[in-house]
Amino acid sequence: MPFKYAGRLEMLPRYLFAELDRIKSEQIATGRDIIDLGVGDPDLPTSGEVVEALQSAAQDPSNHIYPSYSGMDRFREVAADWFHKRFGVRLDYKKQVLSLIGSKEGIAHFPLAFINPGDIVLYTEPGYPIYFASTIFAGGTPYALPLTRENNFMPRLDSIPEHILAKAKLLFINYPNNPTSATADRAFFEKVIAFAKAHNIIIAHDAAYSEIYFGEKTHSILEYPGAMDVAIEFHSLSKTFSMTGWRIGFACGNDDLIAGLGTIKTNIDSGVFQAVQWAGIKALTLGDTLTGPLRTIYSRRVRMVTSALSAAGLEPYNGNATFYIWTRLPGTMDSTSFTMKLIQEAGIVVSPGVGFGKAGEGFFRISVTTREDQIAQACERIAKVVARS
Ligand SMILES: *Cc1c(COP(=O)(O)O)cnc(C)c1O
Repeated sequence: MPFKYAGRLEMLPRYLFAELDRIKSEQIATGRDIIDLGVGDPDLPTSGEVVEALQSAAQDPSNHIYPSYSGMDRFREVAADWFHKRFGVRLDYKKQVLSLIGSKEGIAHFPLAFINPGDIVLYTEPGYPIYFASTIFAGGTPYALPLTRENNFMPRLDSIPEHILAKAKLLFINYPNNPTSATADRAFFEKVIAFAKAHNIIIAHDAAYSEIYFGEKTHSILEYPGAMDVAIEFHSLSKTFSMTGWRIGFACGNDDLIAGLGTIKTNIDSGVFQAVQWAGIKALTLGDTLTGPLRTIYSRRVRMVTSALSAAGLEPYNGNATFYIWTRLPGTMDSTSFTMKLIQEAGIVVSPGVGFGKAGEGFFRISVTTREDQIAQACERIAKVVARS
């Protein structure tokens, strides 16, 4: 190809998951029986009621036009109502809620609104790769805050050097956390808010897994005093309602942060198809009626895997949330070698920790978005590989 990628693409790490996909396809092509515990994409279908809401809305020509940039009033109002019911926080839906084409879209565009070249963006690692990539696309400098088991996978804000803090403008956090499953409590969110105020830093909280909890309900940062001055929170209907393919979510929080993201989006996209917003309205209105049964299923699957891994002599971390299990590797292998070994010797795909950033090395992630009989099979096969390593 005579055309060279722009420098910003050269700055991204190799996308390990694409490579894993390739190896997985090769194995399947040779007739291998592969069980995929790698991707975090629910196997459970979207609710029939939500599908019907889409169908009837799609038949109405008034939904065929360009949607409004910020989202239909009705969608934003229902999102605000859901938020109030769930977290006890009232949002002004006209100024504090913005529809997104999936939360990934919002997270990816957010730094473009607030980051200049030279600004530092703090983000937690291991983590969703988009915090790093979106910072690079905005010309900012990413600075990783490692999440360690010793700190219960919470960043140590007091260990950030002064010269970094002086240039830091944005902090990405994500609880319940992908890939570690850790959840944040009131004390942590209060510390983050105080930190943001002291150093004039924006907080972007990725709450994509807020509804996948098995113990106490998880929290929104916006529940705590002062958060509305400094924070934007990203919500997704994807994991919550088994709607990953539909592409709908919303951002909420501080008026100016929402307006900034809205301005970027107005210049890039033209909103979410209204029929999909009507489906989103249906999902949010049904709320716990849909998410309750999903939680029961994921909780049972997570318990299956954690007890099997423990029996195999490993120490899976249990944050009591998300559909992921984050586990330290056996022996002295690195996460890529272990992952390759599992595919080749057992036909099992997991995610190598290093795929979530350098700080993820030494761990692997299992996703329980697969049928239970397959999960049980996979656990047996993993135990055999672990016993040999
Ligand atoms: C899946 C995921 C998202 C994105 O979900 P959307 O489908 O774009 O709403 C965002 N953050 C994390 C941590 C995720 O795992």
